[in-house]
Amino acid sequence: MFLPRQGSQADHFREARMEHDVAEEWAIIVHGGADATPRREYGHVEVHLQGLMVQASGWLEHGMSALDAAQKAVTELEACGHHIAGKGASPNMNGIWELDAAMMDGPSRNAGAVSALVGFLSPVAVARSVLDHTPNVLLSGEGAAELGHRYKHTLVEDPESYYDPSVKEKLPPNAAGHGTVGAVVLDKHGNLAAATSTGGLLNKTPGRVGDSPIIGAGTWADQDVAVSCTGEGEYFMRVAAAASVAARVRYGGESVQDGAAHVIDEVGGLGGKGGLIALGKNGEIAMPYNSKGMKRACATSSGRLDVKIYE
Ligand code: ASP
Repeated sequence: MFLPRQGSQADHFREARMEHDVAEEWAIIVHGGADATPRREYGHVEVHLQGLMVQASGWLEHGMSALDAAQKAVTELEACGHHIAGKGASPNMNGIWELDAAMMDGPSRNAGAVSALVGFLSPVAVARSVLDHTPNVLLSGEGAAELGHRYKHTLVEDPESYYDPSVKEKLPPNAAGHGTVGAVVLDKHGNLAAATSTGGLLNKTPGRVGDSPIIGAGTWADQDVAVSCTGEGEYFMRVAAAASVAARVRYGGESVQDGAAHVIDEVGGLGGKGGLIALGKNGEIAMPYNSKGMKRACATSSGRLDVKIYE
């Protein structure tokens, strides 16, 4: 049962609090971006998200690590082509697909990210290589691509046929024109991880990098909370959104749900639109947004499985 709350701007869109917060053995939340448009048909997206949550439940039940499950879920969201990331990404104003992605491991605070990456099927897999094989946190452009080649990540041989160059025309009039996918995971070993991947903003300026690959802005995981954001990245960077959720929980004593909702209030206060998913160390779930909708889904060890676009 859910208890709706009243008050702040994000309260209208806040994911309602669970009446009895259960300490979960494992949990996963994913998002497919805060670009949902009223009256658009999302049935196929809901079916895909539902299937992904069933699969992810199996991974986590069998003991997969949070880091591996976050990467696997985001890889699947990149490959499905339903969201503006990976196969579904939109090109920049020069018609080039420059993609951003990040991963963070809660217990170690190891992080890896890529920005303005061109030519790879799974940007999140290249971000994982930054995390696993380099002393760096963020590699951009050609340097990121060099690493992708070194670790033999799969290439996009023909961008024009792999991606959908008409993504712009297919967006409904006045659609936000941006999109991202993300996952936050708590595993059976009590560890948290986060992953985010994005095509960024439609027609973005070449070289523009949003919040998604910026650790602490669009992606964060520590021992208490894991966060992945979506929306107008410049605003999320200006409030250090993902790390602010964690700081509110750690230093401010806020619940994950309150911390997450307050950060979306801050983003909204600057005029930004979007949302985030946040998962606490006991499996607390928050999915607030102030945009028209946010494609999202979650599954937990106690049997919760939700898929939502609006409401
Ligand atoms: N936050 C992403 C960016 O600004 C876009 C999105 O989430 O829709 O690059």
